[in-house]
Amino acid sequence: MTTSSRHPIPIPAARPVIDEEEIEAAVRVLRSGRVVQGPEVAAFEEGFSELVDGRHCVAVNSGTSALYLVLLALGLGRGDEVVVPSFSFAATANVVRLAGAEPVFADIDPASYCLDPAAVEAAITPRTAAIIPVHLYGHPAAMDRIMPIAAAHGLAVVEDACQAHAAALHGTPVGAFGTAGTFSFYPTKNMHSLEGGMVSTADAGLARTLRLLRNQGMEQRYANEIIGVNMRLTDVAAAVGRVQLAKLPAWTERRIANTAYLSEHITSPRVVKPSVAKGARHSCHQYTIRVPGDREAAVARLADAGVGSAVYYPTPIHRLKPFWEPDQLAGRRWELPETERAAAEVVSLPVHPSLTRPELARIAAAVNALGELW
Ligand SMILES: *Cc1c(COP(=O)(O)O)cnc(C)c1O
Repeated sequence: MTTSSRHPIPIPAARPVIDEEEIEAAVRVLRSGRVVQGPEVAAFEEGFSELVDGRHCVAVNSGTSALYLVLLALGLGRGDEVVVPSFSFAATANVVRLAGAEPVFADIDPASYCLDPAAVEAAITPRTAAIIPVHLYGHPAAMDRIMPIAAAHGLAVVEDACQAHAAALHGTPVGAFGTAGTFSFYPTKNMHSLEGGMVSTADAGLARTLRLLRNQGMEQRYANEIIGVNMRLTDVAAAVGRVQLAKLPAWTERRIANTAYLSEHITSPRVVKPSVAKGARHSCHQYTIRVPGDREAAVARLADAGVGSAVYYPTPIHRLKPFWEPDQLAGRRWELPETERAAAEVVSLPVHPSLTRPELARIAAAVNALGELW
């Protein structure tokens, strides 16, 4: 595109960090020869525990594995229903299907993009076994309202905090509300370990089951206690994760400051900016706006101005083929108007900690210039 010459360096939507410190940590572990689930993993679990009110932490090889193993550890399966948002990454519902249970999609609150507690309550049936609230974009779901609903119906709560490291609600960190919390350390998340995941739980028995499940059902080698898989984290990944964990507080502050800058300088009246619920600490994983009209044109205009953007998520989970087709066959129809509307309108802008002031100014100016489209 010829216009890109005006902005030789486009601003990427995400900018994963692999600095000298991460490289040195990885090399140190490689040279040590202890590369799989050794001392670095144990230290990573201990360090991460501080982020979730001292809960037990169990490291695994991805956020999806974290979710999946929690469902297995809770014994969820055939005949069970799990209430999930459709406005999320497919992993949230994939794991429900993989465990043999049925996802039941509930609509979102259009302000937070997280599960609407009233919709959760309405989705509960005698077969409901669990709820998976997603702290989407880094905004904590309404746990203060979801936890009492779960308690009243005797349901497990599995927090999908894969986008929300260090987010909190009324002072309680995400991952410290539910039966278990799950985190991802994929490169584009607020912190990463190349690939990796973590489960947090206050239940020591559940933590032990998770440790068995991730390692073929063994605590002592060849003394298998249950059926398990291999979803172990490497010590190389854990060493990188520990370096990033130490940087997370400063990075989160930068994301919050970048969000404040964008919200102050984006003045186009038809753009809906992100909002933060009372008492919530948004970890600002994404800065997501809503645009009226032709979103593709808006995204193309932003790209012309050298501003990368991304749409999370253009297709709600219930409309993805592996969910849609069986639901059609079974005659299941979901009424999710806020989910459909959000999926049609959202655009996420760069908000990562390495953005400079001129880059932030360019992002805000590019969004304000979108007004010409409408
Ligand atoms: C990233 C993500 C996951 C999956 O994490 P992986 O580490 O990529 O497996 C699950 N849920 C949500 C909401 C995510 O954003």
